[in-house]
Amino acid sequence: MFRVGIGHDIHRLAEGRPLVLGGVQIESERGAEGHSDADALAHAVADAILGALCEGDLGVHFPDRDPQWKDADSLDLLARVMWLAGGRGWKVVNLDATVMLERPRLRPFVQLMREKLAQTLGVEPDCVSVKAKTGEGLDAVGRGEAVSVHAVILLESVIKT
Ligand SMILES: [Zn+2]
Repeated sequence: MFRVGIGHDIHRLAEGRPLVLGGVQIESERGAEGHSDADALAHAVADAILGALCEGDLGVHFPDRDPQWKDADSLDLLARVMWLAGGRGWKVVNLDATVMLERPRLRPFVQLMREKLAQTLGVEPDCVSVKAKTGEGLDAVGRGEAVSVHAVILLESVIKT
């Protein structure tokens, strides 16, 4: 048995904030605003898993107003979501994600993002796709005001029937 889930996340960019994507800290003049470390890639992946489980979204499980999650490491939040999925008898088959950011160019960081996400999801890096795109100078991403991520994940039941 399989389940598919989709996740989307967008964060406003601001000076003086760290830029973290897929658990990788990226040198950048501007970083993502948010309550946790604002890792939009980890958040979109977690939302995709929760979507596949029909378990709402990240905000339901880790509310903004809860001080426990201030500056939280989002890979840790993702690990908690995986723990939930594992408890329900699901494992990850593959992940496909698109990160949209105008600058800096993310291609040099993609391999490390894949490795970190794969480790958290309990799969091999060749089951994790991260594609880096720009906004082509259009919309909030294109103007350098936001980072936006789309993710699709496939889960497989580990319970034998
Ligand atoms: Zn987010």
